[in-house]
Amino acid sequence: MRTVFITGASSGIGAACAEVLASEKKYRLLLCARRLSKLTELQKRIQAQNPDCEVFCFELDVRDQSDIIQKLKNLPNDWKDIDILINNAGLSQGLDLIQNGDPDDWDRMIDTNVKGLLYVTKHTIPLMQESTHPHIINLGSIAGKEVYPSGNVYCATKHAVDALTKAMRIDLLEKGIKVTSIDPGMVETEFSEVRFKGDKERAKNVYNGLTPLSGKDIADIISFVLSRPAHVNINDLLVMPTAQA
Ligand code: NDP
Repeated sequence: MRTVFITGASSGIGAACAEVLASEKKYRLLLCARRLSKLTELQKRIQAQNPDCEVFCFELDVRDQSDIIQKLKNLPNDWKDIDILINNAGLSQGLDLIQNGDPDDWDRMIDTNVKGLLYVTKHTIPLMQESTHPHIINLGSIAGKEVYPSGNVYCATKHAVDALTKAMRIDLLEKGIKVTSIDPGMVETEFSEVRFKGDKERAKNVYNGLTPLSGKDIADIISFVLSRPAHVNINDLLVMPTAQA
């Protein structure tokens, strides 16, 4: 059994990864997010379908480095060896021209998508040293490859994730840790609602007649990436809805 640590597992892609990996009966799941109640619901759903799947959930805000250190230190002993880290927690908040943007939104995105990913990675690496096939998967985005109108700061954070994935691959080579970036286009999750601060109508209109990806589409791809033999690393995968330009 390989232990997978997923950040931002309370909804969307993170929750779908937990469900898909649980169904494969090869993984035990260490799940975190800020909303513990959603994680507990997910745990119940997973264990109703896969009674043997081991799941441990804890509340964590990836922006809080001291809490990350404390929570990882306080994990039960049998959860202290991690094979796979999926750096999934992230958000886009506000979609506006730079001249109209809210600096609090910028801080939230930079603190979560960039600094949070760095903090979690730094403090998880020591827990991966016993693993025979350690692997870190970062959720990047098409927004880490291109810039779109009013996407400014979110795109900047995902360009930073792209650079950090490349940097991790170089820095972690000596430890034998695989590093992969998964870069989706539009995925239908809570993401749009968070971006538009709860405006469901605006969130739905984003798809503009095209069929978006689902969280499961991305989770299936992550499962494939994880199933490659030890000598094969998929560095970067851009995954788009067929109809998205
Ligand atoms: P969701 O909003 O459905 O999920 C985001 C997850 O991140 C939630 O579980 C949320 O949990 C968690 N999260 C947010 N902030 C924090 C924080 N400070 N600490 C811990 N957890 C946090 O969106 P997606 O599933 O779509 O997004 C997952 C990843 O995929 C993100 O990195 C996103 O940028 C990326 N992505 C998404 C795309 C899309 O179109 N949906 C496209 C490309 C990339 P909680 O609120 O409980 O803390």
